[in-house]
Amino acid sequence: MITCGTDTPIMNLYQTEADCVAALYGAKWPEGFRCPRCGHPSAYTLQTRRLPLYECTACHRQTSLTAGTVMQGSRTPLLKWFLAIHSICHSSASINAVKLAGLIKVTYKTAWLILHKLRHAITTAESQLRLSNIVRVDCSRFYSLYNAKHQNHRILLAAQISANHIVQFKSEPVPTATGIQQPYLQAAYVQPDIKKFVQRYIDPSATVINGGHQLVYRLRYWPLRQVLKQASFVINNTYHGLGPKYLHAYLNEYAFRLNTVERKEIPAPTLISYCSRISVITYSQLIGRQRLPVRRVYAGVQATA
Ligand SMILES: [Zn+2]
Repeated sequence: MITCGTDTPIMNLYQTEADCVAALYGAKWPEGFRCPRCGHPSAYTLQTRRLPLYECTACHRQTSLTAGTVMQGSRTPLLKWFLAIHSICHSSASINAVKLAGLIKVTYKTAWLILHKLRHAITTAESQLRLSNIVRVDCSRFYSLYNAKHQNHRILLAAQISANHIVQFKSEPVPTATGIQQPYLQAAYVQPDIKKFVQRYIDPSATVINGGHQLVYRLRYWPLRQVLKQASFVINNTYHGLGPKYLHAYLNEYAFRLNTVERKEIPAPTLISYCSRISVITYSQLIGRQRLPVRRVYAGVQATA
């Protein structure tokens, strides 16, 4: 049974499409409806479509429930989106597109898109939450066990520490000189830009340990490396054959689960809230100029990201 990170079964929370509509409405307009054009607080509800449409009683601007959310333009029922949200938030292992497609009865491409749109919401929303107080910085490697071309990736790591315990975690793959990670060819790497990494993820008022121009070996923080090791284990076991292109998104998804638990939040409602205020990313934006996602096979193991 799928749960939302607690022992509450998902089907108790969102049993119908109407339950999901109500939850998304509450996340999108926590203070009640607000017209996006004039700010008026009341609207007529038009029920002629699959999802309700809201018409401002002052300026008559019509707004759909999913406008401005990551679900915008999707023909997939909200109930299936919510199942995907709970699946991504469930335990520490998430779900890959093949399994999600079977669970919510959609095509592989639709499941792949839903998962990446959810990761986009996570990445965008969590990037606004900077580490503060005491922050440790380090660098380690992610080993992509099933991918013959991209066996390891250098990853910059940062953690907010309290009483020698990691309370928030951020990571970012280090780009390579060629754009392609070659196995064990150290010369292919560029030096990580630690200064920019610190600027992006850490509050200027924080005390940063090992966040200088170059990382100092004696200041390395092994618990931080253990988090990446655990993330590598989970990601490899869930999404066999991961390349560098989406690695950051997968790491952000892992960090989201870890960080929400440390913030004493229930991950699923937090992710619903993110989805309600982060604009959609399109398929073409996601893949750039690259080809359609394909199922790759490495050493007899089917890629399922
Ligand atoms: Zn209005």
